[in-house]
Parts: sequence; C-alpha cells; structure tokens
Amino acid sequence: MAVRRRGGVQSYPDVPVDLWVTCRKCGGMHYRPEFEAELRVCPSCNYHDRLDAAERIALLLDDPDEFHELDADITAADPLEFSRPSGSYVDRVAKARALTSRNEAIVCGVGPMHGRPIALGVMEFGFIAGSMGSATGEKITRLFEHALRHRLPVITVTASGGARQDEGLFALMQMARTTAAAARLGEAGLPHICVMADPTLAGVTASFASVADIIVGEPGATIRFAGSRVVQGTLRRRAPVEDHTAEWVLRQGLLDLVVPRRELRETLSRVIGHLAPAQTAAPTPNTPTAVRA
Ligand SMILES: [Zn+2]
Repeated sequence: MAVRRRGGVQSYPDVPVDLWVTCRKCGGMHYRPEFEAELRVCPSCNYHDRLDAAERIALLLDDPDEFHELDADITAADPLEFSRPSGSYVDRVAKARALTSRNEAIVCGVGPMHGRPIALGVMEFGFIAGSMGSATGEKITRLFEHALRHRLPVITVTASGGARQDEGLFALMQMARTTAAAARLGEAGLPHICVMADPTLAGVTASFASVADIIVGEPGATIRFAGSRVVQGTLRRRAPVEDHTAEWVLRQGLLDLVVPRRELRETLSRVIGHLAPAQTAAPTPNTPTAVRA
C-alpha cells in the first residue's frame, strides 16, 4: 500500500476514511464493520451510539421492508417566519431534509414485531436534533390515532433535544397535544411503550414519552428535562453528568427498565405480549412462547 507523508503525518490513500469509528464516550477506535455488527455499541465502554430512524426500524421489526410508513409528506411550516443570525428556519429545515432524506424529525408507521403489527414512531435525531415542532407533533398524534383506530400497540423511540425553539409556542403546544393523544390510547386499553434513547431531553421528556405505560432507557442514555446551564442557574451548582443517565433516572423511579440494545426487540415484544395478550397477535413460527401467552 502506498503511504504518503505530508507534514510528518502518514496518509494511507487506499484506506477508506470511514473504515474506523471513534467512540463518542471513551474515544476508542473500532473497526466499522465489527462496530456495526455489535449494533453500534462500544465494546470498550458499552456506550450505545446513536442510531438513525432506519437503523432503529431495522433493529425492532421483523423485516424493515414490511414497514409501512405513515404521513411521510408532513413537514414543518414556518408560523413565526423565524430567523437567526446563522440563517432562517426555512433554511434549517431544508438542510435537515437534505441531510436525513426525511421531511420531519420523526418517522411513523406500522410493521410487524414477532409477527404482530405495531404502530412505531422513531425520532430522527439528525433532523434538527430530533426537536419536536408542530409537524412532529402532528405526526405523533396521528400515529396514536391510527393505533386507536386499528387497535394496535404503540412503540415510540425518542432521541430529541426537546421542543423546537424556531416554532416557539407552536412547538410547546405539541407537548400537551401528544400527551392527550397518548392518554386517549391508554383510555382505550392499548399499550404504549417508550424507548428513551440518547439523548431524550426537555419537551419530549416532559410529554408523550414520560406518560408511556412502560418506559425503557438504553444504557448510558442522557435523559433529563432541564439542560445543564438551566440546572446550574437554578441550583447554583453544576449537576454531575451521571445524574442524567438512564441508570440514574431508573433509580429515581422515572424509568421501568434499562435494556441493552441487543435485547431490546425481545424485551419489547415480551412486554407488549403481557400488556395486551393476543389482542392483534398473529403468531409466527419464530414467535416466542411468552409472547403467545
Ligand atoms: Zn467507548
């Protein structure tokens, strides 16, 4: 292999630059195919790296090709004609759409998990930090309404910086709106399980995510309402980083489970089987006994 030296630094032009992944937490270098085979969990420190919505869907469903997406065309409006020095909200949305190939910060749809249809909503952190604007709230609300009409259990996977500031009060309204939609699902006796992935913050933590029947955290995920600057300004002290991990939140009683990514699909399937046994289940040869019960 040809090795070039430029300014004393070795360069290997034949090696693809993305062949190695650096762990966001411990800085360890990992061979990308092995890291991805481990579902992007760091073998050194167990950090659960962020997954995009498509990877989440592939992780949770029997076959991602069987995922039927709902309301994919819904996208943000600009009710406040908001602009920052760095650019307009319209430009931010356009960049996010180009970056993620999504129209909003959540992907909603229906697909089978162990043969059972599930209404699934997965937040796309790459779309303006997974923030919840009015279109995001609309999609979440419609997902709950779809589940209600078709008697489906709901799984939401959150990864979000909170309400989208560019939409001001219109974004904050989505907290009440999505929570009300989740409540209507509960009144109908249908289960909602929320998986809080890294990070789940602010307006999403304080709305539909925290009213789920079962709330699951991924190991090490940052879960909190107020950001560190707000905490420091209010309490006059810096809150330790570990005070906001899924494990700490579990000890405070705000989570029900912390589940490693590799066990997530089985665990969710089992929980749904207990919460709504045989409601719409269509057992398949690979359906575990516990789920059929
Ligand atoms: Zn690591």
